[in-house]
Amino acid sequence: MGAVAVRVRLYRRRMTRVKTFRFGPGSLESITVSVWTAPGSNSQRVKGRAEGSYRVYCGMGNEHTVEIKEEFSGWAGEASRDADVALLFACRDGNADAAATLAGNAVEYALVDWFDPCDVDDDIAL
Ligand SMILES: [Zn+2]
Repeated sequence: MGAVAVRVRLYRRRMTRVKTFRFGPGSLESITVSVWTAPGSNSQRVKGRAEGSYRVYCGMGNEHTVEIKEEFSGWAGEASRDADVALLFACRDGNADAAATLAGNAVEYALVDWFDPCDVDDDIAL
């Protein structure tokens, strides 16, 4: 599977409280990171979502699409000990690099849960 790079195009939606960062095409295939301040939290809690798909070239030489859908949330006080929460707040403040890193983390988490269907074929062949 390819390395996650952060050299991506950035779009930022305006006129809304939700900050949206969209990546792709590239190594971060079609991944959208949305970040917003939780209502009623006095700006102390931020939530986010990374959604999209990521292309994997597996050891069998096949191409697979991994669906990405990861939710994030955290309080300002957690940012010092939780890297994802720190990234969330940086995104909220408009940091595109932080959004790219968060997207990369979401890909990593999704890949942990993903398994290569080609491996199943191997088992059946036995
Ligand atoms: Zn495969």
